Amino acid sequence: MNAFTSNASLVIYPTNPNWIPDKPEALIKTLQQTGLTGEPLNKNENSYLVGEYFLDHISFMGCSPNIKLENENDDGTFTFIRITTTENITALTGKHGFAPHCPQCKKPEKNWRVLLKDNQLVCSHCQQISDAWLYNWRKSAGFGRCFIEITDIYPKEAIPQSSVLELLEKRFQIPWSYFFYHA
Ligand SMILES: [Zn+2]
Repeated sequence: MNAFTSNASLVIYPTNPNWIPDKPEALIKTLQQTGLTGEPLNKNENSYLVGEYFLDHISFMGCSPNIKLENENDDGTFTFIRITTTENITALTGKHGFAPHCPQCKKPEKNWRVLLKDNQLVCSHCQQISDAWLYNWRKSAGFGRCFIEITDIYPKEAIPQSSVLELLEKRFQIPWSYFFYHA
């Protein structure tokens, strides 16, 4: 699956990897009410311009964020919001160099790229078989069926405020988190 066309994204997702909204409109409506998302991008109905309160919900690190909120260069390299839902649990692991930690023995698994099969990992230290999302990825990968992608944001360039995660949790009764996807 390659729903992600942006090289680098901040992705907000539900921590239950099986969760998708009963109605996709409910998720979009919630995001629009919070002001995170604005008008739809006409080329893709799952994509939205950033909303009026985007910068209240997403904190940029550093003093002068190099962020484009409009398609200035007409090449799609700007920050917008794309909502993706998938039929099966999708692993968005990207090309980060972080070795995730086993949920049982807590040791890092350097060979995870080779070992990852059907979203499971067999730990090479303790042999425990675990769902890959139970590993500690330190926000460098995510597993799920529903992703709110904020495009053109490089790892640690910006993070969501707890306000937006709490709003999503309150509305959908499940905890949300985020990670950085770097293709
Ligand atoms: Zn282990």
